[in-house]
Amino acid sequence: SLSIGIVGLPNVGKSTLFNALTKSANALAANYPFATIEPNVGIVGVPDDRLAKLAEIYDSAKILPAKVEFVDIAGLVKGASEGQGRGNQFLANIRETDAICQVIRVFTDPDVTHVDGGVEPGRDIETINTELILADMQTIEKAIPRLQKEARTNKDRKATLEAAEAAMKVLDGGTTLYAAGTDLTDLRELHLLTAKPFLYVFNLDADELVDEELRARLSAIVAPAEAVFLDAKIESELVELSDEEALELLQSVGQSESGLSQLARVGFETLGLQTYLTAGPKETRAWTIKKGATAPEAAGVIHTDFQRGFIKAEVISFADLMEAGSVAAARSVGKARIEGKDYVMRDGDVVEFRFNV
Ligand code: GDP
Repeated sequence: SLSIGIVGLPNVGKSTLFNALTKSANALAANYPFATIEPNVGIVGVPDDRLAKLAEIYDSAKILPAKVEFVDIAGLVKGASEGQGRGNQFLANIRETDAICQVIRVFTDPDVTHVDGGVEPGRDIETINTELILADMQTIEKAIPRLQKEARTNKDRKATLEAAEAAMKVLDGGTTLYAAGTDLTDLRELHLLTAKPFLYVFNLDADELVDEELRARLSAIVAPAEAVFLDAKIESELVELSDEEALELLQSVGQSESGLSQLARVGFETLGLQTYLTAGPKETRAWTIKKGATAPEAAGVIHTDFQRGFIKAEVISFADLMEAGSVAAARSVGKARIEGKDYVMRDGDVVEFRFNV
């Protein structure tokens, strides 16, 4: 499955946030008995109001939300691209993830020292981006002589060489390839770090959570990447509380949803994922697919045999199902569509697959 790497300078609240993620993973694991959870992996359920409504119609025994996997990637320090700290391990680990989540310190606490002196989010983002950019420049520098040689005898390789040279210019200007919106088609083979989608977690003081001006200022620094605002200390408390107590604590700091839930939602979006839904008496479940996935590909997420033996799918949009009130009613008003192997799934499709096994 796809994963998001969490990175950040020391003392920004990364471990605090990650512990909250791990607790949340253990809670989810109860519903996914076959999930093995590693110490550096945290999994969060993607909040989805539709699931409870669907479970009611089908009288489902349980609800299984979509999940997002976060991997704790330790060792980001200034000079990581030159092997400082555990730099090489850090770069190898981050290369394996599908998106990069930067945790940025905004909270002030005289007892928690900042590695670079004072709290300055803009500078910290630049420090992290610089390390990633330098690592990519090294990768490209190393690849270019080989690409030049290949391009001499193979016209197809010329496009890759030119894309690599163009990417080098972008990076040399201090911009990540993601922020620059660089066309990545010919660059995939280089596995560049700054080509991955980025998202940002700003770790605020509790009283800053409602500071709209501050939030707008921070959002502007990282645009077009998405930003999540939370207080890691509060998140670590929330995972210990009952739903009711958690809501009370959130409301006391002017929030309606936990930071982890927001992070799951934004992470899901950043990875380019969407869900379709299945429901029955046993369970109501959200399944994760890439945007643009076809019906057989969606079936393959449940079981590879379902993709191979795909015949057709009965699809009702969530909105149509709610309006009709039941599957039978939706069928009788023609809202249950039979779709074939070329159907492109839409978010919130409620699906029943027919297949040969
Ligand atoms: P890491 O080095 O980035 O993993 O940072 P830690 O999670 O270990 O946090 C470093 C210190 O900052 C710890 O003493 C945390 O309790 C504290 N800390 C983390 N998040 C917050 C926060 O949101 N507010 C405040 N005041 N302290 C925090």
